[in-house]
Amino acid sequence: MGVLRGLLQEAAAILLPTNCAGCGLENRRVCVDCLESVSAVGQSVNGLERLLPSGEPVTSAFEYSGRAAALLVAFKQQGTSRLARTFRPALEATIASAIQFSGSLGEPRIELVAVPSTSASDRKRGFNPVKTLLEAACLRYSEVLSSSIRESQKQLGVQDRLANLRNSMRARFDLTDRTFLLVDDIVTTGASLTEAARAIHSAGGRVVACATLASTLKKKSHDSNFA
Ligand SMILES: [Zn+2]
Repeated sequence: MGVLRGLLQEAAAILLPTNCAGCGLENRRVCVDCLESVSAVGQSVNGLERLLPSGEPVTSAFEYSGRAAALLVAFKQQGTSRLARTFRPALEATIASAIQFSGSLGEPRIELVAVPSTSASDRKRGFNPVKTLLEAACLRYSEVLSSSIRESQKQLGVQDRLANLRNSMRARFDLTDRTFLLVDDIVTTGASLTEAARAIHSAGGRVVACATLASTLKKKSHDSNFA
């Protein structure tokens, strides 16, 4: 259903005048200012790196605020590949940056993994925003994780998120000798990435780094790693 709805919305956008998905400016699919807010990755990638408790670095392309946040919310609501393509430069940059930052440049085979969605509504309609983003950027990913999250993560604090997510993901296969880079749309507390990394480790796989488009954390402050 999600795919069909996305296609219909894309068809409608061609026929009807649309407003910018980020700020509402008339007759612009995505206006220049909103586009810049998610593609000015040159300056903003630096300063948004953090470490998970298990030690993997997390790199993000931009702060989750203002126009960038509005555009990402619009994408997650609409799920269209047209909006997903808006994030392609940022996604490519944050993945490249994560590989470089983790010191794994030159590793022979690093597989991308979309972190399973923790949003109850996404899961209900079978929509994983990260897979749509990766597909829109023509990036291949490995489907190695499945998840069973009991309740919505919204409104939960850091500790409750961790408790809710703990042991909710698992690898579909034995992952011995395989190396992964986790990809997510937004990092807030780091709980989803932590759980995804745990699931991969417990199946024998290795995680070199994590890359997200947005981070709700402000630029560091070097000591502000995830709890
Ligand atoms: Zn705009």
